[in-house]
Amino acid sequence: MTRIIGITGGIGSGKSTLAQCFSEHLIPVIDADEIARFALTPESGCFSEIVDLFGGEALKPDGTLDRAYIAAKVFADKSALSALNGIVHPYVIREMIARTGACGSPLAVWDVPLLFESGVDAFCACTVAVLCDEEIRIARTMRRDGADEEQVRARIRAQISDEKRAELATYTIRNEGTLEAFIEEANALIGQIREELE
Ligand code: ATP
Repeated sequence: MTRIIGITGGIGSGKSTLAQCFSEHLIPVIDADEIARFALTPESGCFSEIVDLFGGEALKPDGTLDRAYIAAKVFADKSALSALNGIVHPYVIREMIARTGACGSPLAVWDVPLLFESGVDAFCACTVAVLCDEEIRIARTMRRDGADEEQVRARIRAQISDEKRAELATYTIRNEGTLEAFIEEANALIGQIREELE
């Protein structure tokens, strides 16, 4: 059976960078955000449920979802947002379990920004929290996405704090120095996790 290593951290902390290091150690990485984006495409197993929820007005003439329409609906109506999450979140978990089962590897990484908030840590043999000062994370995210500072701060407020992540995680790793220093530390941590889990 595949043992799951859960990676989490605040926005811009370095989760994807850490996941990439695992991938270079040939440990498959399953990305919750990528599956959540896929959930909204006609190829996903929950597409018809989403269409049923919002009705035919949510479809564009080409048969794909009108994301602007859905965004406006869930922004205006909290119950529509929880109904959408009630479809997408279980789908993401089902899909992560299916991809893990299919990977045939002794270890797999689950990259889940809201790992503890969603309770998905219950599936993991161990968890790693990437910790980083908030101002550094905001600067990185603004640089990467061209995002607005207030939007980034609002997303941070919707997540648990680094203190809480550190308390809940099996391992923590800080990412406040250079990228090279982080990658070196990540490789050492991956070695330690492999020894403990394999
Ligand atoms: P998100 O939650 O927004 O998906 P993330 O936690 O996955 O973010 P990354 O995408 O790994 O974070 O890193 C955010 C940005 O900061 C990327 O552009 C990455 O290349 C850069 N970055 C990561 N670590 C460092 C570092 N130590 N020094 C400089 N830039 C870094």
